[in-house]
This record gives sequence, structure tokens and C-alpha cells, in this order.
Amino acid sequence: MRKETRLIRDQIERSQFKEHAVPLYMTSSYTFDSAEQMAATFSDEEDGYIYSRYSNPNVTEFGDKVAYLEGAEASWVTSSGMSAIFSTFGALLKSGDRILSARSIFGSTHRLFTEILPKWGIETDYVPFDDVESWNDSVTAQTKVLYLETPTNPGVDIIDLEKASELAKEFGLIFIVDNCFATPVNQQPIKFGADLVIHSATKYFDGQGRTMGGVILGTEQLIAEIQAFARHTGPSISPFNAWILSKSLETLTLRVERHNQNALELAKRLEAEESVSFVKYPFLESHPQYEIAKKQMTGGGGLVTFEIKGGIEKGREFLNRLKMLSLTANLGDSRSIATHPASTTHSKLTEEDRLAVGITPGLIRISAGLEHIDDIWADIQQALS
Ligand SMILES: *Cc1c(COP(=O)(O)O)cnc(C)c1O
Repeated sequence: MRKETRLIRDQIERSQFKEHAVPLYMTSSYTFDSAEQMAATFSDEEDGYIYSRYSNPNVTEFGDKVAYLEGAEASWVTSSGMSAIFSTFGALLKSGDRILSARSIFGSTHRLFTEILPKWGIETDYVPFDDVESWNDSVTAQTKVLYLETPTNPGVDIIDLEKASELAKEFGLIFIVDNCFATPVNQQPIKFGADLVIHSATKYFDGQGRTMGGVILGTEQLIAEIQAFARHTGPSISPFNAWILSKSLETLTLRVERHNQNALELAKRLEAEESVSFVKYPFLESHPQYEIAKKQMTGGGGLVTFEIKGGIEKGREFLNRLKMLSLTANLGDSRSIATHPASTTHSKLTEEDRLAVGITPGLIRISAGLEHIDDIWADIQQALS
């Protein structure tokens, strides 16, 4: 079966009621027929569910589908994207280890690297996203992990996954990619040499702004290590959220195709606007890493950034003049969203630090939704004018 079909047809076994939609197993634990069966399940001699912090049928179904999409051997599902990221580092690193990362990463991941992991003696070295050749200068004997996001947030810059994975192999680093912005419909980092892929399922997997979730994908061996850590530290997802997320995957390909189309069209229309000084979208020929984007992505994704002339003030004014687009801190939703990073998510950084990660004063990030492109455009155009 093809991808579109499997995402709709792959599901856990039906119960005796032969329901069409998968039932929600909202239970914290599972029963056994005998003491012997219970003992066998606990000692892994028999397959079976024990307790929902360990595993749950709805969670298994969701994780298996994402593993299939990413071409991964195994998966582990968590309560949010951040608990997926934290569990990964908690499981794989110890005091004294170092992380190598590009600076353009999700805000909370940056906080984890700079404020939380150092408490346990784990430090991060940052490297420029567009100069992979220079990264070997920053690898030390303690470096264990190479961690990247591409496209980056909020600048939608592109990092060459193939080159990055060559460097990781050369130095024996575990190569981890946060693939949230691209989704596995547009990009499968494992094909380019990634060892682990992480997702915030809160974004495109849900796609309608309802639930939080996270997934880690990779080899059986690495996922087993993460599972051992996560089972006993407790970042488990609710079966209800996993049930919603699994159902949402049925429409993922369809949705991402439309997100891609709307974002590309929006990027083209913005490029022709007087009041806009530049537009960045991976599949626009003017994007500085267009060739790399075309090599590793099959669609440009749903995020577009552009610089409005007039700096911070005009950036804020643009948001205030929008009538339909939502002002909210989410992305990947069916509803189009606009944010102004310089005055919100990145306001605590100095202007110099913001510029270092590509956040110019008038930068606007649009998460193109699934509304009709002409309605999205009408709102943006009236706010610009
Ligand atoms: C949202 C996001 C996260 C964190 O995910 P949560 O589900 O909010 O915990 C991590 N990485 C990226 C790229 C994100 O957009």
C-alpha cells in the first residue's frame, strides 16, 4: 500500500465490537488471567500491556505510524515535543558530555541547552548553520551528539543534512534532527543519515491546535535506551491525546500538501509587494539554500518569513491590523498564524543576538493554514497596505 493509504488503514486490532474507528483505551493499567500470566508479562516472556506509563494500545498505534512515515525501526511517544527532547538527552548523555548544535533552534530547546542541562554538567557548543565545513573545529573528545533543526525557526534557513551526517559519522556523534517544521511528508532525515528524529506532535501531526505530544524515532537500540529512561521518569502521553494524534495522521499528507501550496503561493505574492524587503521560503529560488532544500525536501513546508519595511514598530502594527490570521504562539494549524519574533518569542535577546539567528526587527513569521489562499492573502495585503 502507498503512504496515503497506510496512514488511513494501519490500525490496532479491532475489539469484539468490530468498531470502525479505533476505540480509546483510557485506562491506567491492564488485568491478567492468572498470577503466572502476570509474571510472564512482567518478565517480558509474554507480550502484553501492563501499565500506561509503559505502553498503551493508542500510543503504540500512533508511534508505529510515525515510525513508518520516517522510515525508522522504532519509536517512543511522549507528552510533548520538549519531553521528547529532554528524554533523549536524559537517556543518552551523562555529566561531562557535550552537544554540538546550530544556534537557530526552538526557544525551549535553547533554554534546555543553556540553563538546564549545564546543571548536570552537559554543555553545548554552537556552530554556524551555513558553514558545515567549519564544524569539525568545534568537536571535542567529549562531544557526543550533533543536534539540528532544518528548516530553522523562525528564519526557515536550511542545513545540509547529508554533509552534517558525514561529520557526525566521522566523529562518531549521534546525529539528531528535530523534523517538526518539515514533517516526514516533506523530509525524512533518516534517509540522509540521521540516527534519531524528534517531533513535536503538537504542530502538524495534530494539525488543528488541540493536543500536545512528542515522538522520538530511530534505531531499535537507541529507542530502547530512551524507553528505559522515559518509562521510569514519566513523560507519558495521555491515551486520549495519542488517539487524537493517530486519527489526525489519516489526513496528514493531504494537509501538508495544502500547507505547502498555500505557503509557496503566499511567498510568491509577498515577494512582489512594495512594503516587503525580503521573503524567505525554502522553495523560492531566491532562498540562499534553495539547492539544498530541493535536494532534501519534497515540499517547502508551511512556514514563510518576510521582513516588513519599518522595523519593530511596523512589525507590531502589521499584527494589529490583521483581521483573520490568528496571533498565537503555535504553528502547523489549519488556521493561518502570524507572529513577530522580535517583540515576542525572541524579545529577551539583545538586538545583536537576534540578528545572529536571522531575526531582523521587522521579521514576520507566517504559518500558512488551510484556508483559501485568496482569503489568507486578502488579510495580509490589507494589513500591509
Ligand atoms: C513546538 C516545537 C517544539 C516543542 O514542542 P512542544 O510540543 O511545544 O513541547 C520543539 N521543536 C520545534 C521545532 C517546535 O516547533
